[in-house]
Amino acid sequence: MADTGDTGDTGDTDDTGDTDDTDDESAPSDAFAALSDPVRLDILDALTDHHRTEGHAPIGFAALRRRVGVRDSGRFRYHLNQLRDRFVERTVDGYRLTATGARVAGAILAGTYTESVSLGPAELDSTCPFCGSPAVATVREGQCVVSCAGEHPLFSWHVPANAATDASLSEVVDLAELLAFQAIEQALAGVCTQCYDGVETSVGTPDEPGFRAVCDTCPARLVGPISFPLLVDPDVAGWCRDHGYTLREDHVWEFPFVGEDASVEPAGDDADGELVVTVAIDDDSLTATLDGDGRVVAVDGN
Ligand SMILES: [Zn+2]
Ligand SMILES: [Zn+2]
Repeated sequence: MADTGDTGDTGDTDDTGDTDDTDDESAPSDAFAALSDPVRLDILDALTDHHRTEGHAPIGFAALRRRVGVRDSGRFRYHLNQLRDRFVERTVDGYRLTATGARVAGAILAGTYTESVSLGPAELDSTCPFCGSPAVATVREGQCVVSCAGEHPLFSWHVPANAATDASLSEVVDLAELLAFQAIEQALAGVCTQCYDGVETSVGTPDEPGFRAVCDTCPARLVGPISFPLLVDPDVAGWCRDHGYTLREDHVWEFPFVGEDASVEPAGDDADGELVVTVAIDDDSLTATLDGDGRVVAVDGN
């Protein structure tokens, strides 16, 4: 029988599922609870599979139940209803993932291969800016770490395990750097990279400068040098290019001012938390004024 709808299986009519699933599901604990059963994860997986082959078209109740492989229609309906309306949407033609459901399914898939991914250590085509020895990269347990033979830490970022499965070490490093840039940009836009809630960024003080974005909602936190916001500013990128460095083509640790102590001063007596950050390449310097949130508001380079 074709997987086209709710026919053929006794008891597979889907007309009684509207009673117990319309509670306010706003609490995070409710979301975790909704995903607490393997059958429900199998349902998300089956819907993801369906969407891959059929696009966003809904799938009928019986066809979905057969894909998941649960014989008991009542039991299946119960679990399916636990996923509504946050993760799974019911339409007149059947079921499909909501946007949130698609993201959650993606996140689960991203971690599926965690244990199998292990790359390096191996040398990259790059040298340590501190000691000149080769940069060495390792990917373990979802973390991409670059250091050098002299054990200078150069870069570390999370990479989704599935992204590393069929990739070379240098491809994973490139991806990790891209994700880092995106995270900085997203944090500066006031959005958490993990849960998309609002996030506040800060730059510390002239004595203890540093770029921070810590989410109040989820465990995500971004803590880095004060030069982080500069890395995503187009004017800074242009100045770097004029001095022989191309952001996102050259490795981030190769920029002379990343990881070194930048010179940081208050922007003035009425600075209101603004900082002036001065960085140098060779004999030239660039000053960038950051507001209290870390956004670059002015750039002056020579
Ligand atoms: Zn080194
Ligand atoms: Zn968050």
